[in-house]
Amino acid sequence: MSSTQTAPDSAETPLSVAVIGAGPRGAGVLERVAANLGTEWPADRPLILHFIDPFPAGPGRIWRFDQSPLLKLNSMAADVTMFTDETSVIDGPVRPGPSLSDWVDQVRAGTIELTPVDAALAAEISTLTGADFPTRRLQSLYLDWFFRTAVDDLAGAVTVRVHPARAARVDDLPGGDQLVLLDDGSSIVAHLVLFSLGHNGSQPEPEHAALAGFAERHGLVYLPPAFTADADLSAIQPGQNLIVRGFGLAAVDLTVLLTEGRGGRFDRDHTGRLVYLPSGTEPRLFLGSRRGVPYRSKISSTLVGDRPVPRFFTTAAAARLESESESLDFTAQVWPLIAQESLWGYYRELFTGHPERVSLPWAEFADRFATIDPRALPIAAGSPVAADARRSSHPLVEFGADAPAIEQDITRFRELVAEGVPDPVDRLFLPEFDRPLHGLRFESGEELQQALREHIRADLDLRTLPEHSATLGLFVALLTSLFTLSDIIDSPKWSARSRVRDIHGWWLGYFSFIASGPPGHRLEELIALSEAGVVEFLGGDLWVEADETTGLFHAGSANVDTVVTAAALVDARLPDTSVSRSDNELLRALISSGGGLEHVVADGDYVGSTGRLLVRQHDTRVVDADGGLHERRFAIGPYTNSPFVGAFSRPRTNAISFRENDKVARALLQHLATLPAATSVDA
Ligand SMILES: Cc1cc2nc3c(=O)[nH]c(=O)nc-3n(C[C@H](O)[C@H](O)[C@H](O)COP(=O)(O)OP(=O)(O)OC[C@H]3O[C@@H](n4cnc5c(N)ncnc54)[C@H](O)[C@@H]3O)c2cc1C
Repeated sequence: MSSTQTAPDSAETPLSVAVIGAGPRGAGVLERVAANLGTEWPADRPLILHFIDPFPAGPGRIWRFDQSPLLKLNSMAADVTMFTDETSVIDGPVRPGPSLSDWVDQVRAGTIELTPVDAALAAEISTLTGADFPTRRLQSLYLDWFFRTAVDDLAGAVTVRVHPARAARVDDLPGGDQLVLLDDGSSIVAHLVLFSLGHNGSQPEPEHAALAGFAERHGLVYLPPAFTADADLSAIQPGQNLIVRGFGLAAVDLTVLLTEGRGGRFDRDHTGRLVYLPSGTEPRLFLGSRRGVPYRSKISSTLVGDRPVPRFFTTAAAARLESESESLDFTAQVWPLIAQESLWGYYRELFTGHPERVSLPWAEFADRFATIDPRALPIAAGSPVAADARRSSHPLVEFGADAPAIEQDITRFRELVAEGVPDPVDRLFLPEFDRPLHGLRFESGEELQQALREHIRADLDLRTLPEHSATLGLFVALLTSLFTLSDIIDSPKWSARSRVRDIHGWWLGYFSFIASGPPGHRLEELIALSEAGVVEFLGGDLWVEADETTGLFHAGSANVDTVVTAAALVDARLPDTSVSRSDNELLRALISSGGGLEHVVADGDYVGSTGRLLVRQHDTRVVDADGGLHERRFAIGPYTNSPFVGAFSRPRTNAISFRENDKVARALLQHLATLPAATSVDA
């Protein structure tokens, strides 16, 4: 146990909070507790904050320093802050501080001192610009500094104790105090507990257990969904065929670790083209997924058109929808408005920022666009409506008697775009954007490789060149819509099916595909790896088979007849959230003891589970198995049924994570203040 700050002597017995999980969210709550002292807590009243985590406090597990220097954030340095600012709408005080890139400036200027760093980090710090994608190790230093600064800033009689251990369970003591048992055999008694457990793995699903069994029987390699930075990749042999199922950020990290991480190098040839120089120890990676294409790359252009102001999915529209509907369905009611807002964001930037690329005045396009039924916008032209809706990844909506009118609006939208946007490169239709390989057939694997490389190159152009800043308009509109959605996400009116299937289902994946992709340079590297023959693309609607006859894995796709055979398979994605099947003993104990409840939802004949821990949104109090609020427990993070908010944010975006941190910090302090005089706590 290490104490980072000691309170002055006081006759009063201290009250205490045990924060389990000291990753960026736990650290963010600490900063908010510090900010709210004095107003929500008497400055001279003793308070102990225990931070329990086997990983370093501040960075936690995901951002620990001890990981490959090749792994990066998927945000630019200027877009990462842990601090509130003038846009933050919070009850507690705003306390500004440096973004990651400002922090690096201050390190360079010597106003922030770091303990000596290795040569790679020193080089990164000396050259980093706000537009660079920093390494996770650099972010680790920023988060470590953030935590230490928050501790130093604590006013009054507050003590922080850091416990480098894993919490195994939390029990209620008579009278309500909380007994936290740690895996080093020690325990802590606290008045309140805040669970901030972040991302957790889960015990294998039946499919993964079956694949693992198959691999074991036949001496193959199979890696189930996991955190790539933690996975043991040593069993994957040089030159071996490796099927990678999934094309998101986990697949990108895996590719980095198995190529550059194995000694390969990227270089530029005399034309400036990126080339990959293999080390010879890489496997041969076959990448595929349902979409068959990587996530859309991060955008580096800037907006030059009219200021983005929500027009269709506004705060008022969301509130109206919520109050006027008996029951809410995301796919049927909200998604069309988000689609409308997203397309509006895209075309507004295209027309107002790049008038030379369009052939109608914005006012005319805008007026005609606004008359199109929003339900037509996520669906491609052609008939019948339902068949084309299959192009996109969300479930179908039955339009019934409205179908013919919607068909007409689909056609009107297509005609409007064709008339106003001469270059097909500038035309955006959401179904094709979401599933670019859908319905395409290639004669050979090589044709597919070429098509994929062209697709990735075109995507890179669209998301980096200044003349294509309309894609940033799309991104901003989608992000704003996510914030707007958070206003009504607590509504009890969501149908159970929509909550499970849509909000905690396809919508998250869709948003990540468009807005949480890798840095552009990773996609350029993917092209170079493909040209070097180290990476091959499998296509979309990927299928994988465990063939007992050959004792090998087979994989193929809907786009080409080629079938790949391999002795190694990786499911490259994060494990699904399931608190009852979590690999985190503490979460499982919470559920099995009745101290917490998995979020099961039901209406009519539908019963489903979001897999998350049920908390009351208003203050994040944990709901127990009887449906009551636990008196002493709070929980935040991606394993709870609160909306996913991440931990850090772009500056000046009124970030939801900071609003949530402020809310829970104040709730903790307010709740502590109502407790009877302290009894038996660990000081
Ligand atoms: C692989 C990965 C990459 C990501 N990259 C980005 C990115 O580039 N940009 C971005 O904005 N977001 C990214 N995210 C999103 C991520 O949600 C946030 O960056 C952030 O890590 C969330 O903070 P957290 O504290 O809630 O969770 P975590 O960072 O997961 O921290 C939770 C902490 O709880 C601890 N813990 C869990 N159980 C126990 C226990 N029983 N006892 C004690 N301690 C426990 C863990 O050790 C961990 O340190 C990424 C997420 C993942 C999984």
